[in-house]
Amino acid sequence: MAVIIDLEKCTGCATCEEGCPVEAIKIENEKAVVDAETCVDCGTCIDECPEKAISEGK
Ligand code: SF4
Ligand code: SF4
Repeated sequence: MAVIIDLEKCTGCATCEEGCPVEAIKIENEKAVVDAETCVDCGTCIDECPEKAISEGK
């Protein structure tokens, strides 16, 4: 599993990239991209995203 990024809301601010403990998020073309293989579902990025663009994957 991995978190889902709402690309309509994401501003590419990189807060999630900086906060992710396992470096599962990278900013590409000013949008956050999650590596589902690396993400451990810790939830840090969901809490830290100022745009509330990140949600729990299903
Ligand atoms: S913290 Fe939110 S708005 Fe900022 S890059 Fe990550 S997903 Fe996008
Ligand atoms: S849930 Fe945790 S491990 Fe997954 S992308 Fe967000 S901060 Fe990184």
